[in-house]
Amino acid sequence: MVTKTGMRSIIVILTIIQSFFICDVNGQNNLKISSDFPGGNIVVNKISEDTVWLEPDLSFTEGKWFYWYFKISNISGKKISFKFSNNDLFAKYSPAYSINNDQTWLWYGENRVENNSFSFSFGEQDTIAFFSMAFPYTEKNLHVFLSKLNSKDLLKVDTLCFSPEKRIIEKITIIPSANKLPIKVLITARHHACEMMANYVVEGIIESILNERDLKYLRENVEFLFIPFIDKDGVENGEQGKNRIPRDHNRDYVNKSIHASTAALRTMVPIWSEGKMKIALDVHCPWIKGKGNEFIYLVGNSDSTIEKEQIVFSKLLEENSLGEIKIYHKDFLPFGVNWNTNSNYTKGMSFSKWASQLEGISLASTIEFPYANVSGIQVSKDGARIFGKAIAYSIKDYLESLE
Ligand SMILES: [Zn+2]
Repeated sequence: MVTKTGMRSIIVILTIIQSFFICDVNGQNNLKISSDFPGGNIVVNKISEDTVWLEPDLSFTEGKWFYWYFKISNISGKKISFKFSNNDLFAKYSPAYSINNDQTWLWYGENRVENNSFSFSFGEQDTIAFFSMAFPYTEKNLHVFLSKLNSKDLLKVDTLCFSPEKRIIEKITIIPSANKLPIKVLITARHHACEMMANYVVEGIIESILNERDLKYLRENVEFLFIPFIDKDGVENGEQGKNRIPRDHNRDYVNKSIHASTAALRTMVPIWSEGKMKIALDVHCPWIKGKGNEFIYLVGNSDSTIEKEQIVFSKLLEENSLGEIKIYHKDFLPFGVNWNTNSNYTKGMSFSKWASQLEGISLASTIEFPYANVSGIQVSKDGARIFGKAIAYSIKDYLESLE
């Protein structure tokens, strides 16, 4: 027979066991959100059951910007609501997501976001998911791309310099075998760390130069120099990069550069060029969405001689845009129009302005490539690469026209 005291003891023990069990179950099932991986960026304000409140981390950024990228785990079988605290954090096709890995990015789809929020239903087999405002691209992606490249005998991967956080800032060259006095072309990306879609375009340029049958002219006569990540620390740390405090990388080309990569580039390029650099292109992504940000375009240089050459190149790009994603010359942004005025450059000189002043240069340009929507066509990794091919063909056509 159990005494009253004995019964009380059993109840206390059972309660302790039960509460331990509940705690443990909750512990295993709690949503976990993180950004402690290359490119990760998020501030989690609150998690309550299956709803999370978030915003982008704007560290080192003047004003607002829109880059974010996070991982969520313990999602199996759940419908989770993601509530963002600010406007303008989603491109045309809502967030991009990748389930159970960080590679298979897809757009969630148009009109999935309401009041800066969206919900996502995960399958029973889903354990982790990644979400971002577009398709992230960090050093890891570059290494995978380079390792899978065909016909890379002409390609050399080297170091431009080390970043402040001791990362390698890659310098990729394609050196023609035949011509001892090659024409030179410089192509850069990620002056703004968040502008990840630019790198898929760069992949397309490199791949085309090496492999396209009809680009033999480039392989024989042109030396290419690519700097895929100007703001390497920003890319890996998941920072916005745009409007960086104390200085934006794309305003760091005047007086003494404060960033290692821009300083190294300004020293190295004139020596490397030997006056033979004809083209310098800098690939960017525009603002996240809306008017003026959903087509590909070149940004007119304040030097009218250079701007004339940009117009020639812009027309060539349209002719060579044979994929679904096309550039239309009508979208060219002349100097003095919209945001492209002197007042946009009061904080310092841009890469393209600097390059336009180098000895022997003929064409220097920024190319803006949208995050999600190009003239009504959804951006995919391959679509961006095929546009890179159009750039490679236009470089060939342009250089041949100079001869
Ligand atoms: Zn930019």
